[in-house]
Parts: sequence; structure tokens; C-alpha cells
Amino acid sequence: MAVRTRIAPSPTGDPHLGTAYVALFNWALARQSGGAFIVRIEDTDAARSIPEAERSILDALNWLGIDWDEGPDAGGPFGPYRQSERLDVYRGHAERLVEAGHAFHCFCTPERLERVRAAQRAAGENPGYDGHCLNLAADAVAERLRRGEAHVIRMRVPEEGVCRFRDALRGEIEIPYSQVDMQVLIKADGYPTYHLAVVVDDHLMGITHIMRGEEWISSVPKHRLLFDRFGWEMPEMIHLPLLRNPDRSKLSKRRNPTGIEYYREAGYLPEALLNYLATMGWSMPDEREIFSSAEFLEAFDAGRIVPGAPVFDIEKLNWMNGQYLRQLDTGEFVERFKAWAGGGDRLGALAPLVQERTERFSDIAPRVDYLLGDRQPLHPDDFAHKRLERETIVEILFRAARDFDGVRPWERDGLHAACRASAERLQLRMGDFLFPLFVAVSGRPVALPLFDSMALLGRETTRARLRDAMDVLGVSGKQLKRLEKLAREPG
Ligand code: GLU
Repeated sequence: MAVRTRIAPSPTGDPHLGTAYVALFNWALARQSGGAFIVRIEDTDAARSIPEAERSILDALNWLGIDWDEGPDAGGPFGPYRQSERLDVYRGHAERLVEAGHAFHCFCTPERLERVRAAQRAAGENPGYDGHCLNLAADAVAERLRRGEAHVIRMRVPEEGVCRFRDALRGEIEIPYSQVDMQVLIKADGYPTYHLAVVVDDHLMGITHIMRGEEWISSVPKHRLLFDRFGWEMPEMIHLPLLRNPDRSKLSKRRNPTGIEYYREAGYLPEALLNYLATMGWSMPDEREIFSSAEFLEAFDAGRIVPGAPVFDIEKLNWMNGQYLRQLDTGEFVERFKAWAGGGDRLGALAPLVQERTERFSDIAPRVDYLLGDRQPLHPDDFAHKRLERETIVEILFRAARDFDGVRPWERDGLHAACRASAERLQLRMGDFLFPLFVAVSGRPVALPLFDSMALLGRETTRARLRDAMDVLGVSGKQLKRLEKLAREPG
């Protein structure tokens, strides 16, 4: 049977290195055997989906040189490839399960479920559905549905026993059903949950190998039950190890830039980034570290993936990118540099900022240095300010980094509004609030207009600079706790 692999990103944010990593391995598995690689957009979380995120994910894959055979833009025989366009398919399948007694309608209100969970937590139990609607009489259900009562559809889960499945990298895995919740399959808004949609689509789209991040292993029992109950064969499961920071923590944007856009903007070559990602948990049979994507596709063997914890180390990536840059001939080097420097019309975007401040062309370079390359390294003294304490400065940087996550599109007016709101919340003058941001972004207290600068630099680079500034200032354990609490509160 021809291999069919897929990635199934949820369009909830900027394209992530993890998505590129999983895409790369799925792409390799398909390409190497003449199979097909599919992109499916999992946009069933209406509240978290962001319309422009799909485009950025596809653009990022394109930039990396990963191509796909079927997808929301490419079409294909098993479309549509956007889950929000397949709602009827999921509903029909959920109803099949209800008819066969494998799923049931549940009318519990969110308040009741919260009470149950609170009681379970208080009793030291794992929170989960208590089976309240499991055995409602069929005519009572029909009547409540007829009255239009709000409901979800949940799957039945065996009360006893263990779910067994095989992960190609880890061998047999057993998870007791007592750890598996009676998962909602269709939500009150009529949308499917991830668990139902992923199983239905992986089957209907003929996926032969599910290769995804290891954080999904604990979901397999739900999927296994669904595959079995529909009478479908479960594809082969390959859970890739999660990428880690050098300190072994999970790769997260709070520590390292995780957005592909950052690497693109910072002037990494896509082939170097792809090469580096290919060494995460995988190695060439001859252990050589530098190889082209054609060589990778040729040599790829999923059996050589090591399920350990691969470390994504920017220093190592820098070294590798340097190797790639040095091996370009001079003409090519100039071309690639020009393409990068002029990328997204960088110079055109800078012009309105510098033109009115320029007397000679030679004035330009020192003003825009931080917009074209790294800003100068910071020192805690750079943040000395007559009214702001160090703690307040850290809090400003932290809040700004958090609030900027919600700024969409990434433009000066939205950034301005976010800063104004944050300054008000902290009861600070706007000028004072902006001071640490100026320093963090440009490396100096006075620079070209801040909001334009951040808009030009992009979300990822701005975030990386704010985080670096926080590192330079240092955060006490007590303050970190307070800030983390803050991070969990809604805007
Ligand atoms: N939509 C899921 C995600 O965002 C896909 C997980 C899977 O590949 O099954 O990661």
C-alpha cells in the first residue's frame, strides 16, 4: 500500500519549529517511498483559530522547501482539507457511534461538570466525566433533543481493562482505561473535538502512518477505541520526541525563539534550518551532520529515529548556518544576502522612518543597525531610569511580551493600543512604560519610532529581544512566581 502521511496543524498561532520538524519527517517518509504527503488544517477550535495562521503555516513550509501533494490550497481527492468544512462528516460519524451504542448524548451543564470535577479533585481523584447521562432512556433523550436542549456527544469507554497499542519507536504501550475519560466527540456548538475529527479524517484520507509529537501518546487509547468501533484499521503510530531547550525543558517561546518566522527574519538559510531539524533525534547512517534535503530524503529511515530528547541548540544551528553560508560561491552569497536584505521590501519599509531624519545617506546605517541586524548586547545599567525600579521594568517587559501575543495583525497601531492599555493597567505614564521597550528593542534609550520599529522587526524578533532584556536584568524567584501567575490570568 502506498504510504500516505500528513501533518495536521491547528491554525492557532505563528508557525512553530515543532510543526516544521514533524512536517519534515512526514514529508521524508512519504517522498522516500513515492507516497503522498498531506496538509490538513485542524481548525475545529473556533475560538482559538486565527484566519491568517493557515497562510503563514503554508508559507513557512514553502520557505523551507517542503512540498505537499494534497492540502487546503492544493486540493486533492479526499478534500476538503480544512476540518471546519467537514462538519457534516463528523456529525454523521458520531451519530453512527450513538446508534451502535458506542457514544451517548450528554446534557450536563458546564456548571454541573465543574462541580463534579471540583469534588473529584477534593477527593484526590483524577477529574473526569462521572457517567451521569450514560444510561438515559432513549425516549427521554429523543424528547430533550426535540426540545433543542444543549448537548454534547460523548464516547463510551470500557470501565475495566487496558488499551494496548504499538508505537514504532517505543514498542508496545499499555494504558489502563481507568485513565481514559469519556471524551466529548461533538461539542455543544456542533463542532467535533480533535479526537473524533483526527480519527475520521486519518481514515477517510487514507493515512497509513501517523507521525506526530509524543505529547499525543496519551490520546491514543481514545483513538484506538474509535478506530475499533468504526471497524477501521489504525494507521501505524510513530510519536516523535519533543524538541528541548539546552537545559532540557520543553522548547517554548518563553526561552528561545520557536517561530519559523524568527529564523527567516534573522537570516538563516532554509536549507540549513531543515538540515539542523533533520538531526533532531535522527542521524545519517554515516553520522555526517551536514547533508542536503535530497540526501536526507534518500537516506531517511524512520527506524533510525531515537525517541530521546533532542536538544535544539541555537549555537549549534548558528555553526551549521555558517557552514552553509561559507560554502556558497561569492555571487550566490551576494544574491542570497540581497534577497534577505530586500525580503518583504525591508528597505522600502525603512524609508519612511529614515528619510526625514537623513541629511546624507551615510547617516542611515548607524540609525537602522538594530532593524537590519542584531541590536547591541545589553547591560543592566542600560535600564537605569529615574522613576522606574528594576522590578517594574521587568514587569513591563513581561507584560508587553504577553500582551503582544494578542496583537493581530502585527502592525504599529495594534502595538500602540496594546502598550497604552498595559501602561494604564500598571498606572504608568506612557513614556515611562515605553522606555524599557525602547532599550530592549533597539539597544538604546532613543531610536527610531518604537512601534514602527517593532512592526518592522516582526513578532518573533521583538519577543526574542524582550526576553533577552529580561534575562539581562535577571528575575528573582519571587517575582518569577508572581509573573507566571500573571501569565495565567486573562489579559
Ligand atoms: N491538530 C493537532 C496539532 O495541532 C494534530 C495532532 C496530530 O497530528 O494528530 O498538533
